[in-house]
Amino acid sequence: MLLGALEAGGTKMVCAVGDETGAIHNQISIPTETPEITIPKLIVYFKQYPIEALGIASFGPVDLNPASPTYGYITTTPKPGWGNYNLKGAFEKELRIPIGFDTDVNGSALGEQTFGCMKGIDCGIYLTVGTGIGMGVIANGHLLHGMLHSEAGHILLSKHPEDTFAGKCPFHPNCLEGLAAGPAIEARWGRKAVELKDDKKVWELEAYYLAQALVDYILVLSPQKIVLGGGVMHQLQLFPLIRAKVKELLNGYIKTKELADIDNYIVPASLNDDQGIMGCLQLAVLACK
Ligand code: ADP
Ligand code: ZN
Repeated sequence: MLLGALEAGGTKMVCAVGDETGAIHNQISIPTETPEITIPKLIVYFKQYPIEALGIASFGPVDLNPASPTYGYITTTPKPGWGNYNLKGAFEKELRIPIGFDTDVNGSALGEQTFGCMKGIDCGIYLTVGTGIGMGVIANGHLLHGMLHSEAGHILLSKHPEDTFAGKCPFHPNCLEGLAAGPAIEARWGRKAVELKDDKKVWELEAYYLAQALVDYILVLSPQKIVLGGGVMHQLQLFPLIRAKVKELLNGYIKTKELADIDNYIVPASLNDDQGIMGCLQLAVLACK
């Protein structure tokens, strides 16, 4: 079955055509400008192929409630032109095929659950640490939505006693995203995260914040696996630091076989950065059911 996949990001739109096995046959990337400029280009791309369904995983916040009049909309983003924009509807009108719609991070979580390291797992989380921090949640086998969708990048943390950085989030002085996303690392240390590779204290502080967040997610959601993706997580030296700090903070309170094998519990994304677009293929599959 030929399927379309769209990973709608704040800076770029990744579009692909593939199939239900997760195979990607063709892929392009288009910069995200205003909807008037960008959407017609995406439609031209997808109209070239006889796709039977489309899966969209979008930056947000988005409305995921099928009963809502604004289902399929990007809602309150400050990004010019995209606030209150009917993204799903724009494609439905032109393509007239089933369309699956979810958040960008839920897309990646679904990609990992369907094709990657969360196969066979029915409660798991995918956290991206990039320009922002976001989390996709699989709960009892399905993507978790709820009132809105997870906004786990904005959970509040205890500041490190020696960290004088004010935080980058305009809403919260001490949220995870404001203290630990890529732009926070760059603002705190005055250099891009990738250039700080060999600076041990940078990654120890980063692990301090990420581990606090993971402990909260573990205690609340009881995930069977935690997948960490996004640009910042390419710094693989973070993984042992995060795992050690998580163990230290849990302090033996939770004893499970998963935590006993923490190297296979807190893991990097497994699909070569295709987890998002592959998840979109699965969103398209699910839209046909
Ligand atoms: P986005 O979140 O915009 O979709 P990314 O996941 O690539 O895209 O995140 C971009 C952020 O990640 C930037 O702040 C960048 O500095 C940081 N980043 C990208 N690649 C790396 C890397 N290899 N090591 C550390 N940080 C990185
Ligand atoms: Zn915040």
